[in-house]
Amino acid sequence: MSSNASSPSAASAPNAGLPAHGSNFIRQIIEADLASRKHALRRWSGHPGSAREQALSPTDPARIRTRFPPEPNGYLHFGHAKSICLNFGLARDYEGVCHLRFDDTNPAREEQEYVDSIVDSVRWLGFSWTNGNTEHRYFASDYFETLYQFAEALIAAGLAYVDHQNADEMRANRGTLTEPGRPSPDRDRAAGEHLEEFRRMRAGEFPDGSRVLRLRIDMASPNMNMRDPAIYRIRRAHHHRTGDAWCIYPLYDYTHCISDALENITHSICTLEFEDHRPLYDWVLDRLVDLGHLQRPMPQQIEFARLNLTYVVLSKRKLIQLVDEGHVAGWDDPRMPTLVGARRRGYTAAGFRLFAERIGVARADSWIDFSVLEDCMREDLNAHAQRRVAVLDPIRLVIDNFEPAQTEICHAPNHPQHAELGVRDMPLTRELWIERDDFSITPPKGFFRLTPGAEVRLRYGFIIRCVGYETDDSGRVTTVHCTYDPDTRSGTPGAESRKVKGNIHWLSTRHAVPLEVRLYDRLFGVAHPGAGERDFLLDLNPNSVGISQAMGEPALARAVAEERVQFERHGYYVADRVDHTGDRPVFNRTVGLRDSWGRAAG
Ligand code: ATP
Ligand code: MG
Repeated sequence: MSSNASSPSAASAPNAGLPAHGSNFIRQIIEADLASRKHALRRWSGHPGSAREQALSPTDPARIRTRFPPEPNGYLHFGHAKSICLNFGLARDYEGVCHLRFDDTNPAREEQEYVDSIVDSVRWLGFSWTNGNTEHRYFASDYFETLYQFAEALIAAGLAYVDHQNADEMRANRGTLTEPGRPSPDRDRAAGEHLEEFRRMRAGEFPDGSRVLRLRIDMASPNMNMRDPAIYRIRRAHHHRTGDAWCIYPLYDYTHCISDALENITHSICTLEFEDHRPLYDWVLDRLVDLGHLQRPMPQQIEFARLNLTYVVLSKRKLIQLVDEGHVAGWDDPRMPTLVGARRRGYTAAGFRLFAERIGVARADSWIDFSVLEDCMREDLNAHAQRRVAVLDPIRLVIDNFEPAQTEICHAPNHPQHAELGVRDMPLTRELWIERDDFSITPPKGFFRLTPGAEVRLRYGFIIRCVGYETDDSGRVTTVHCTYDPDTRSGTPGAESRKVKGNIHWLSTRHAVPLEVRLYDRLFGVAHPGAGERDFLLDLNPNSVGISQAMGEPALARAVAEERVQFERHGYYVADRVDHTGDRPVFNRTVGLRDSWGRAAG
């Protein structure tokens, strides 16, 4: 679906030819469900609710409903981008709706700061949870009362009980993969006693950890998740939305399936590690449907392989460690594999969407090479970023036969494939900045740039010949001297007939503006940081950032924050969204023009 996938630039890229929106097993499930009208009769009042609340409403206008369910306990990372593009993309493609649901049932770790950042990141990726006048942004904590009532119903039906065992006893009695568990002494007490005690748990009559509410399923099940899982625990903790209203909190497996059902979710897509939880998901919903609290058909849990990406870590715990221990400057450090970091780095939302399409979804775990993501960013940036000139490591070049007051205006296209974007004036004067490594006194074989006696073309300008150079006391080159040939101006008749191999970029020293350029590279130096038992911090790339005091064309000082450009011959850069100002332009390197890591690795 991404327009980038069919852009001309895509055709020459390494991953070209893959379908822009391939079919996959999830799409096949959805298409079969639509064909059989499986969900056509679901009712929807306009709000999440129980069967009773939905019963008198019209049928649900959304053909499917999916959801993205982050826990607001950290910033979103690249793995979440895959899940967001998948869930919102399916809803978009099948005339459905995707809900943004905060899975906020663990009060100790959740904060409003994370909620706000997640909202921003999903929007930034280009997705919306608003449909018509309805904002489908929900919080599992909004369902606390309903979840509680359902738990009472399960207890009354003999399907849940309050267990007095402490955590150690519960663990010991849970059994193993080869041995069944032992039933709790509380398991067969009368439902009325459990109901009464559960109410007292809610009322705050018992200390934290002294009791849990468990489902009464099967202590001998080969699936450990089915051995009477705990669904409520006592925990006095301030919740970022419900404050101190509750001292008991529902656990994930119980909350998630019911939240899906209340929201009329049709396809509940999650990562593979939840496969063993699916029988529990279905068990809870089946019972609540039988008791009349939820409507059929139930949402279907579908698992897919999570994103595993080389050269990064995608575990919240490790990301938190990087921030807390100061290995990076914060969550939005441009080297972080977070969406806020990526944005600051200059990665684009369209690049992420293209990436998600390209890697597709599968049922089996695999690794995606980081260069696939970088290629997607290059493709999008190549298509949209205007070209500019920056000299990252400047040395002076003097054109000896140019008059000091003379200025020749050269013209550089803003985008080679988009003539409609026009050209910009590049004033050429006697003194220029060029890249230090575009000049060599003793050139290696195959060096086609400037060397004593040789000729190159000043890009968009004239052919120059090197006639000398100056060095400082240490032998370092300070100035290169050249002469130019006035008959070789680019774009004039006959100018191109004279062949030179090198073509270098330059800036007039009189016009150039100083830039701070932050040269970011990969945060980790190895493909699998922390592989085996190794401490992942040992794999940090010591050269993941360098600062260059560069020179740029004046347009760069007028760039707005987050403007993305290609520095010709260098790569893609972005005006830093935090520090860049017209008086002090700051650019971040997003990605080089080609994959230097792939080349280095052979
Ligand atoms: P944690 O690292 O604490 O387990 P998480 O990364 O699973 O957290 P959640 O907030 O629970 O974070 O995730 C929200 C959604 O994003 C879930 O549906 C989860 O399956 C999905 N998700 C998380 N990581 C990935 C990943 N690497 N690839 C694809 N989807 C992911
Ligand atoms: Mg999780």
